[in-house]
Amino acid sequence: MTTPTIELKPSASPLSDAERAAILANPGFGRHFTDHMVVIKWTEGRGWHDGQLVPYAPLSLDPATMVLHYAQEIFEGLKAYRQPDGTVATFRPEKNAQRFQASARRLGMPELPVETFIEACDVLVKQDEAWVPAHGGEESLYLRPFMIATEVGLGVKPANEYLFLVIASPAGAYFPGGVKPVSIWVSEDHVRAVPGGMGDAKTGGNYAASLLAQAEAAEQGCAQVCYLDAVERKWVEELGGMNLYFVYGNKIITPTLTGSILEGVTRDSLLQVARDLGYEAEEGRVSVDQWQTDSANGTLTEVFACGTAAVITPVGTVKRTAAEWQQSAGEPGEVTVRLRQALLDIQRGTAEDRHGWMHKL
Ligand code: PMP
Repeated sequence: MTTPTIELKPSASPLSDAERAAILANPGFGRHFTDHMVVIKWTEGRGWHDGQLVPYAPLSLDPATMVLHYAQEIFEGLKAYRQPDGTVATFRPEKNAQRFQASARRLGMPELPVETFIEACDVLVKQDEAWVPAHGGEESLYLRPFMIATEVGLGVKPANEYLFLVIASPAGAYFPGGVKPVSIWVSEDHVRAVPGGMGDAKTGGNYAASLLAQAEAAEQGCAQVCYLDAVERKWVEELGGMNLYFVYGNKIITPTLTGSILEGVTRDSLLQVARDLGYEAEEGRVSVDQWQTDSANGTLTEVFACGTAAVITPVGTVKRTAAEWQQSAGEPGEVTVRLRQALLDIQRGTAEDRHGWMHKL
């Protein structure tokens, strides 16, 4: 099947420079969207077609559109960063494109070619380049590619029509007042995903499934939920939207991918960046009991979460049903801060891109 070229149909009335500047002065996260979006259709027998860049606008969907009933939906999240020379680059978009294909396979959806995924992101960022914040701070332009089942009709089956879209939203600094540790509620009642389930796919249902535990965390005064494995309920998996790393002196460990953990691009990048900086970095299993014990005896020196949104977030307070403790006295640890800066420097173009991770537009 041929891949479409994306036809440009830009807006006749984009926001003025002054209106855009007012938004970029305080973008927050996911609150404002750029002037355009990319749309590509897929139809059974025809494949991908009618790729277009069009003005950002609401979709019109029949109430019986399948995604609204059976949740055949997948998405991605990646960022475009302004470089010191004023150009723009995205970070490892091929990894997101590959994960998008894996998510599509898991949900019985058509796979978008990697090069089309990257082209769609590139076309949108080029058109809305003025929305990419200036170099210097931690601001970026967040890209949200996603795909929904658009066949109309009730009855559970893979749809015969889909819509792929990319929208973009300027993102402010995650920690405007400086990096602050996050508090974690270890959920011993609810699980996020099960073996053989959809935990390693980036699909909306996994996030809907996390909301109850998230509400419980808030009742406990915690900001994020840490999920354990569904079978033994003892092995640490990940947070609702970030992977975890445990720091033992010069060694960092992240939970092994079990099928119920999302394979984060940041997680993968940090295994490499840590080794580049001379740390030992590996995948392994860490139980919640070991977390508690090693934190108390001081061998576990730091814990951090990682993902596209915040890059790296130190973990401070940890709470489970029968205990509560402070990791690293509630302060961001040295390894956490060093790794965070090293990855930020690559993304912002102020350190050598030795692994060819930056995709320049
Ligand atoms: N786990 C989950 C459940 C997530 O939603 C995310 C965010 N995509 C991550 C981990 C981190 O992934 P990444 O580093 O690719 O943003």
